[in-house]
Amino acid sequence: MWYVSTRGMAPRVDFEGALFSGYASDGGLFMPEELPQLNRETLCQWSTLSYPGLVKELCALFIGSELIPKDDLNDLIDRAFSRFRHRDVVHLSRLRNGLNVLELWHGVTYAFKDLSLSCTAQFLQYFLEKKEKHVTVVIGTSGDTGSAAIESVQGAKNVDIIVLLPKGHCTKIQELQMTTVLKENVHVFGVEGNSDELDEPIKAVFADTVFVKKHNLMSLNSINWSRILVQMAHHFFAYFQCAPSLDTHPLPLVEVVVPTGAAGNLAAGYIAQKIGLPIRLVVAVNRNDIIHRTVQQGDFSLSEVVKSTLASAMDIQVPYNMERVFWLLSGSDSQVTRALMEQFERTQSLNLPKELHSKQERQEYEQMCDGCCVELGPGNCGPRRGSGIPRTARGRVGG
Ligand SMILES: *Cc1c(COP(=O)(O)O)cnc(C)c1O
Repeated sequence: MWYVSTRGMAPRVDFEGALFSGYASDGGLFMPEELPQLNRETLCQWSTLSYPGLVKELCALFIGSELIPKDDLNDLIDRAFSRFRHRDVVHLSRLRNGLNVLELWHGVTYAFKDLSLSCTAQFLQYFLEKKEKHVTVVIGTSGDTGSAAIESVQGAKNVDIIVLLPKGHCTKIQELQMTTVLKENVHVFGVEGNSDELDEPIKAVFADTVFVKKHNLMSLNSINWSRILVQMAHHFFAYFQCAPSLDTHPLPLVEVVVPTGAAGNLAAGYIAQKIGLPIRLVVAVNRNDIIHRTVQQGDFSLSEVVKSTLASAMDIQVPYNMERVFWLLSGSDSQVTRALMEQFERTQSLNLPKELHSKQERQEYEQMCDGCCVELGPGNCGPRRGSGIPRTARGRVGG
């Protein structure tokens, strides 16, 4: 399996290359060069798998056994989930009226990021040990990512992690999750300013390619393909739990409501849909509503400030994984995607062009997002309807 940049100007890489790169050298994000198509038979076979079983199948499909042989891969994934509190790792709770909640919060830090980060950290260590190399992970966080990333690599001998947390902008629990890990490879610094201001020096560090190379720096945010890959399993698991039967033609549709910030989980769901999972995606945002405006009016433009809400992990101005969504919508057209994203980077604003609204794409687009915007915040809580709802850590949404 090869990975190409959404902007088409970077050399293609294998999974290992994508895992260690973050952004591609042309500023794009890595996507599989070709998406496999799952047929009904495969879906039926997968339908009885456990959550870890699904992660194993998906990873095998997208990583390639020449990079990680299947037995090793299975061991890594078992190890990644070994510290989850729930026996099944992920659990679907059935509420009334066909509404279900996918409990993705049974990891050590209670964030759904534990799922993909724990696997990603295992993959990292696997390659690093083989090559006897070392990396330093640098992360700026407003909470969830920092805690989950620290947890996933603490004690790993080939990885150091540096986390910058904006003092006073994380919840107390998260601050404690980050500052009370005593392993020698974990380095946490409190910094002045909010998470936007914190991004500036981090961007500057990563822009210095010589420095980055010399010190083997990398990030672990959700531009990383490995995280998107693992998150696809949430959607498959939700689908198989919710679909009434797989005997019908066509297969039943399940609606999945995705609370979104950087659109990582959304991109994962859209790829799952593209490879054959019959889901309909509904995006839920809070007052930081750029994705809502994009779906409704094609208005992908930055708002002036990040608005603070109770769901701080969704308080994001630039949902960078939308670049993956645009690339898929354009039919993997990297020229179109590059032009769009470069315009966005220049002007901080973008009107989605007609090409992406052409009939079929438009339908897909509506199908993907359904124009449903749900505010998760004080006084207006909870999704409208839906069958499988990958919800994120309860503690976050509830404050
Ligand atoms: C990270 C996070 C999100 C946003 O996830 P994306 O996949 O980047 O959209 C939403 N809720 C919680 C609790 C999170 O930790």
